[in-house]
Amino acid sequence: MIKDKNIYDLVIIGAGFAGLYSLYKAKLANLNVITIERASNVGGTWYWNRYPGARCDVESMQYSYQFSSELQEEWEWTEKYATQPEILKYANHVADRFNLRKNINFNTEIKSAKFITDKNYWLLTNHKKELIKTRFCIMATGCLSTLNKPNFKNIESFKGEIYHTGSWPHHKVNLKNKIVGIIGTGSSAIQCIPEIIKDVKQLYVFQRTPHYTVPARNAPLKYLKGKNISNMREPIGYDNDLFVEEVKYNYSSFRLKAQNSVAAMALPINNQSALEVSEDRRQHVFEDRWNKGGVPFIAAFEDLNFNREANETAAKFVRNKIKSLVKDSNVAKLLTPNYPIGCKRLAVDSNYYETYNRSNISLIDLKTDPIKEFSKDGISTSKKCFELDVVILATGFDAMTGTLFNIDIEGKDNIKLKDKWSNGPKNYLGLASSGFPNLFTVSGPGSPSVLTNMIVSIEQHVNWIFDCIKYMQNNDKSFIEASLNAEDDWFKHNQEVSIDHVRSSCSSWYIGANIKGKAKNFMPYVGGYSKYVEKCNEVSKNDYEGFILK
Ligand code: NAP
Repeated sequence: MIKDKNIYDLVIIGAGFAGLYSLYKAKLANLNVITIERASNVGGTWYWNRYPGARCDVESMQYSYQFSSELQEEWEWTEKYATQPEILKYANHVADRFNLRKNINFNTEIKSAKFITDKNYWLLTNHKKELIKTRFCIMATGCLSTLNKPNFKNIESFKGEIYHTGSWPHHKVNLKNKIVGIIGTGSSAIQCIPEIIKDVKQLYVFQRTPHYTVPARNAPLKYLKGKNISNMREPIGYDNDLFVEEVKYNYSSFRLKAQNSVAAMALPINNQSALEVSEDRRQHVFEDRWNKGGVPFIAAFEDLNFNREANETAAKFVRNKIKSLVKDSNVAKLLTPNYPIGCKRLAVDSNYYETYNRSNISLIDLKTDPIKEFSKDGISTSKKCFELDVVILATGFDAMTGTLFNIDIEGKDNIKLKDKWSNGPKNYLGLASSGFPNLFTVSGPGSPSVLTNMIVSIEQHVNWIFDCIKYMQNNDKSFIEASLNAEDDWFKHNQEVSIDHVRSSCSSWYIGANIKGKAKNFMPYVGGYSKYVEKCNEVSKNDYEGFILK
């Protein structure tokens, strides 16, 4: 690498899990590196999403780094699904344990990034208009970090408090005895509602589309703590009887199961079709998964994601559960989705449906009674005025591309990323886009990303990027760019594999449907994590085939 004291080897944007691991790798590679983070601390999505009830719905023993066996060994998760405060504590522990903080500029936002072709560096500008030069740039900016704040008429006139689940305040929000309205019923609302109901006087849930959710069955993790058991079982994931020590004893084979899977998670697998078993057997399998809890429900049979008839058997099972759990049949009906299960990301909850049996909750169906406007006192729908003390927007994110577009990224020949991607995010392997040399995205569109266990996907991407940088150093190269052909083929392949997948069968943020004017393409790569990794490895083995190196 050409050494120039005024030019960083690498700038990493973001200090969430992707940014922290990138920084760790950069320091290990002795690069002159700086990480820039708009928040005042590390954690990314877990820094911002601190709404009541926020927790991860991937098992904590899997939603954690594996790059350091010491870290993996010493960290003790307390619950099957970690809470947001515990995950944030873990991110802070990682930053301290690996001495990463001194290379992070907090409270700093990158506003633009321009590739200076003749000098072969990126020129970044922060919010203070300071300039930063760097050879390489890693966008560790997260997939769900730009808020979707719908432009409700007169929202600014509301005199009460307004919060968004995706940027919840750091102080405790007092909802005691307040009248609260929550807009949206996606994963965030599904976690938030059963928590805040305990405090509020009255909760109005404004629902546009009902969401499928399955019970988490969260519980404290079991520790042997010195007690002996005769044999350490081989963990398969989502086994509520396992002791933490059993997972740690077999951590490498446990992690390998995730590596070889579709979703980068060790899940109990059933290779049967839902359609090849008897009705009794099918109900038994669904019931078993429902009782054990969590995302393995959608892997109850191998064809739920591809075969609509098979999918309908699972959807029907959940619809019947809603009917049995929600006492008011009208409310149950409104909570019942009519699209394939798993199209919008399956939510995982603790007592979501049961919460609707409480006396202090009302469900408003925005399909028949849409929001007309806000006023100083609350929200008016076409039929009624709701006086509210607090409004919670649980309206999601401008996913995957929103945060990249918030930075004015300009590549070769004055091409802006926003313009290049105006018909959808085109890139190669979700790692790099033609026209934007030496700039990598971690878990960006075009990679399995949000369809997987994110930490595993992040580690794979970051490892690939640093192997690539090392290869360039060893081969005297200082310029890498995805070729147009390679990215066209990858984009085409991504769209083809998504056609028959259940994920593309309804309007969701995966296809940009939640943001007005956004191009409608299936953004994450749905062909499966292990296949994707195979492809990435093949590319690097073949001297970065599909990339132009100079
Ligand atoms: P989301 O899934 O996009 O849900 C947003 C909700 O707001 C939807 O119900 C949507 O209705 C509604 N909405 C949006 N605009 C609206 C408008 N103008 N009027 C009325 N309703 C509107 O967002 P999210 O719940 O924040 O979840 C986003 C993603 O974050 C999840 O899919 C997941 O990947 C991640 N997440 C993960 C966890 C976890 O690990 N446990 C927890 C929370 C979030 P429509 O459906 O009709 O658009």
